[in-house]
Amino acid sequence: MGNKLTGIAASDGFAHAKAYPLVQPDLTVSKQSVEDTEAEVERFKAAIDQATEELQTIRQKAAESVGEEEAQVFDAHIMVLADPDLSDQTTTKIKEDQVNAAYAFEAVADNFITIFEGMEDNPYMQERASDIKDIKKRVIAHLLGVDLPDPSAIDEEVVVIAEDLTPSDTAQLNKKYVKAFVTDVGGRTSHSAIMARSLEIPAVVGAGQITSTVKKGQELVVDGVAGEVIIDPSDQEIEANEEKASEYESMKAEWNKLKDEPSISKDGVQVELAANIGTPKDLEGVSNNGAEGIGLYRTEFLYMDSSELPSEEDQFQAYKEVLEGVDGKPVVVRTMDIGGDKELPYLDLPDEMNPFLGYRALRISLDRDEIFRTQIRALLRASTYGQLRIMFPMVSNLDELRAAKAIVQEEKDKLEDQGQTISDSLQIGIMIEIPAAAMLADQFAKEVDFFSVGTNDLIQYTMAADRLNERVSYLYQPYNPSILRLIHNVIQAAHKEGKWAGMCGEMAGDQLAVPLLLGMGLDEFSMSATSVLKTRSLISRLDSKEMAELANKALTECTTQDEVVKLVEEYTK
Ligand code: PEP
Ligand code: MG
Repeated sequence: MGNKLTGIAASDGFAHAKAYPLVQPDLTVSKQSVEDTEAEVERFKAAIDQATEELQTIRQKAAESVGEEEAQVFDAHIMVLADPDLSDQTTTKIKEDQVNAAYAFEAVADNFITIFEGMEDNPYMQERASDIKDIKKRVIAHLLGVDLPDPSAIDEEVVVIAEDLTPSDTAQLNKKYVKAFVTDVGGRTSHSAIMARSLEIPAVVGAGQITSTVKKGQELVVDGVAGEVIIDPSDQEIEANEEKASEYESMKAEWNKLKDEPSISKDGVQVELAANIGTPKDLEGVSNNGAEGIGLYRTEFLYMDSSELPSEEDQFQAYKEVLEGVDGKPVVVRTMDIGGDKELPYLDLPDEMNPFLGYRALRISLDRDEIFRTQIRALLRASTYGQLRIMFPMVSNLDELRAAKAIVQEEKDKLEDQGQTISDSLQIGIMIEIPAAAMLADQFAKEVDFFSVGTNDLIQYTMAADRLNERVSYLYQPYNPSILRLIHNVIQAAHKEGKWAGMCGEMAGDQLAVPLLLGMGLDEFSMSATSVLKTRSLISRLDSKEMAELANKALTECTTQDEVVKLVEEYTK
């Protein structure tokens, strides 16, 4: 029997392959004096050559596995490596100060980084600072003789293990070879988990000890449904995993029959089941899984997958592609939600003690409105290609909503003056993910066309439990009556004003929550595309009136999350 580790089930599916650690090595450089400075300069030049060759290979592989556009970021790195200023200054420093190459190069690179970062009104130079940071790591790794993790270099079937994966690491994983991933930290709503679901890669996160327990090449069995990992599995355990995988496949085949069916409860109440996407590439999953629209397009990935702010034209093309890609079905596009666990190196945001409570999302958009206006213009221009709904993230008060709407209006007026047509069925709504907005939903409802409840954040803010911190994940309680009451308040407030209420947090596709949400009258459920069909199957087996009774009991009688869970299990047996 293999050793078992339990984490959080982050993306359904099963896998059996060898472990491939993506671990950040220690790149601390110490100052050493060097006598043979000529040899040290040669060592430095060799490191630059090796780094360049490596980047060329990575670039080529990235172009093949994830696309030419994503690969272009490496061109900028190759260019910086070839910059004579960097290498001349390093060479001089090695010779004059008689120091080791790693120390000299780090000092020179840091100096450039500081200068470029200081050019606040020159975004081009600020981007170069982040390029230098990247290549600095690569060259120093060569000089220290350690390997850097490189997800795009994987060319055999593996289970990737890592302390954590950034959304951009996740985007570089090639589905052909990466059969699953397991991380030490993170929760079900961390963005690497969300991306794993859209890429349909089984994943277990928050497994605590995976990188310290498992070595490269050790065999792993991953159960992304139960959130379990078996290290060095026995033959029986491998067989059991294969059985579960094939049962899962047959269940999927059953759900697949509902692909072109509407989403209707047993007693005939129809709801909309939509999908969450991160890029136009996810459109395939949307149609394969029979989603009735897009309830959340997380546009921040457009910004994160690029080495500079995406232009109005690039954004327009992406939005148009998504609107056209769903054949007239509704598309909710959320404006940039950078911050929290979604970094944007070229904006060079200062580190904060509490990034989830800090300068992020709409707060950045209203503060740096030139970035926001570009996005809004691209959206307004794309609006005629389908049913567009613009949504603002992280709204905490009505002043923010009014300021954002005023900007939309101003850009609309300007575009119309230039002869641009803008759809007259465009809707504007907000995410409800801050308890203050959930409490004041009756007032917000008068000034929006719709709400979409972002439970990933709403739960963390209501329970004061960081959504990424597995040590407090027991407090991250979607079914706690307090959360249910906030959601209920939001749905009621929307309906009172004749507006629709949706949900695009992960809770919308949670099989235990769906009966309650249906009972509370939620109109639209937006989730990872891979959850749509099983949710449609579940809803077809539920009676909405019974579920309303169930929800009412949960809201008025239950005192804890456990009581709610028991109640739902009884009702849906
Ligand atoms: C949410 O907070 O529920 C949400 C959908 O947004 P994100 O997960 O991108 O923060
Ligand atoms: Mg959110």
